[in-house]
Amino acid sequence: MNSIKRLIHNHQLFNKPYLSLSADKFHDECGVFGVYGHREASNLTYLGLHALQHRGQESAGICSSDGRQVHIEKSMGLVTDIFSEKRLKRLPGEIAIGHNRYSTAGSSSLKNVQPLMVNFSLGSLAIAHNGNLVNALELRTALESKGAIFQSSSDSEVFVHLIASSKAGGLYERIIDAARMVSGAFSLLIMTENELIAVRDTYGFRPLSIGRYDGAYIVASETCALDLIGAKYVRDVEPGEMVIINENGITSMKPMPATRQASCIFEFIYFSRPDSNIFGNINVDAVRKEFGRQLAREYPVEADVVIPVPDSGVPAALGYAQESGIPFDFGLIRNHYVGRTFIEPQQSIRHFGVKIKLNPVRQLLEGKRVLVVDDSIVRGTTSKKIVKMIREGGMAKEVHLRISSPPTIGPCFYGIDTPSRKELIASTHSVDEIRKYITADTLQYLSIEGLLKVVPDSERFCTACFDDNYPVLNHQEKIEQMELFSAL
Ligand code: AMP
Repeated sequence: MNSIKRLIHNHQLFNKPYLSLSADKFHDECGVFGVYGHREASNLTYLGLHALQHRGQESAGICSSDGRQVHIEKSMGLVTDIFSEKRLKRLPGEIAIGHNRYSTAGSSSLKNVQPLMVNFSLGSLAIAHNGNLVNALELRTALESKGAIFQSSSDSEVFVHLIASSKAGGLYERIIDAARMVSGAFSLLIMTENELIAVRDTYGFRPLSIGRYDGAYIVASETCALDLIGAKYVRDVEPGEMVIINENGITSMKPMPATRQASCIFEFIYFSRPDSNIFGNINVDAVRKEFGRQLAREYPVEADVVIPVPDSGVPAALGYAQESGIPFDFGLIRNHYVGRTFIEPQQSIRHFGVKIKLNPVRQLLEGKRVLVVDDSIVRGTTSKKIVKMIREGGMAKEVHLRISSPPTIGPCFYGIDTPSRKELIASTHSVDEIRKYITADTLQYLSIEGLLKVVPDSERFCTACFDDNYPVLNHQEKIEQMELFSAL
C-alpha cells in the first residue's frame, strides 16, 4: 500500500472505526425502499433512498419493472452521485425497489451491490435485503454443493438461490420456503415483473413500514423516507409477515412459525433517524431524549454545560440537559462534508484525527466543567480523541462523559456494523478502566434497566450487544466461530 492509499485507508477506518476486513460477510447496514403502482416509481425510490442514506453510504441501486421487463441501475457511491436524470429514465415502470448498503470497501464490492436481480424459471426477480442471516454460510455451502454458482459474497444472495431452487410450485410458496430456511434478520423486498412482496423475519429485527402515496403503495425501512415523498404511514410490516402487493391490492400472510419478537434496540440508540417512527410507530427522537433524561436521573453531575457529540448524541444530550437543568449548547461543530475518500495532506498538517470531523467552540468551553453526551462507545477511540480535544490547551476544566446506552459488550449478527468482541472496549475493560483510557474525569453509561424502562413493551427488543442474550444465535460456540470468521 503506498502512502496516499494508506492515508485514505486510515481515514476510512476512522470514519468507520470498527471495520473488519471481511465485514461484508456479516455486517451489512442497509436501507430498503419500494413502490407499487406509481408512474414515477423509480423517481420516488430515488428520493426514498436519499432519505435513507444514513443506513448505508457505500453503494445503492434501483430496480424497476414496466410490467414486461425488469430494469436495473446500481453503483458504488451515494444516491445523489449515482443517479442522474438520465439514469433514472432508464428505470421505467410503476414498480420499483431500491437499496442502500454499507459494508467494507473491496474489489468484490460491486458484485454485492443490491438489488440483486436474476432471471429464473418463473421470470425475473429482484431482491433488496436489510439485515444479516446467521446461517448464510451453511446454506451457501449446501447450495454450492448442489451446483449453485454465487455471484457475490453477500448473505442476501442465499435468498435468490433458495427461491430459485425451491421445489415448491409458485413464487409465494418458494419465498415462504426460503424464509423458513434462513435464520437471522431480514426486512426483505422482492420485486417481479408485476408485484412487490415484503417479508420481515419473525423476530422483527429491522424496521419496515408501509405507506400510501397518490394511490401507490410504499414500503420503506424508516418513515423518514415516507415523509420525504409525502406518503402517509399506514402500518408496519409485522414480524413474520409476508405482504403481497399487486393488481388485487395488498394481501397479508403469516407463513412462518412464530418466535419471540426481538426488534433491535440500537435502532433507537443510534441507527435510525430521529425523525423516523419505528417498531410500531414509536418516534426515535422522543425515545433518544428519554434515554438522556433517564441518564441524568441515574448519573447526575455538577457541570456548567451539556454538549452532544454531533449528530449521534444530540437528542440524548438535550434530554440530559432538560432533566438536569444544566444549560445545553453545541460545543462541538461537525463538518458534514467529510467524504470517504478525503485525503489528508502529508507534510503540512499531520494527525488530523478527530479534527477532520469535529472542532470545539473554544469560547463555550473554556474554563468550564463540560458534560459530553454520546450514544455509544465502540472501541473507545472517538471518545478518547474528543475528551483530549475538549481539554487541549486547558480549554475545559473538567470533562465528564455520559453514554446514552449500556456498555457494548457483544457484536451484532443481525445487521449493525460492530467489530469482533475483542475489539469492543467494554467487553474486556471495566467502566473505570475505560474512563482512565479515554482520560475523562467521570464516565457513566445508561443502565440496561434504565434503557428498557424507556421503550414500551421492553421484552420485544433485542439487547444482545449489551447483555449477550442473542435471540437467534445463542450457542456460544457458534458465536465464537462467526467472530473468528469475521475477523479473518
Ligand atoms: P468508537 O470510537 O469505536 O468508540 O466509536 C464510537 C462512535 O461511533 C460513537 O460516536 C457512535 O455514535 C458511533 N457508532 C456506534 N455504532 C456505530 C455504527 N454501527 N456505525 C457507525 N458509527 C457508530
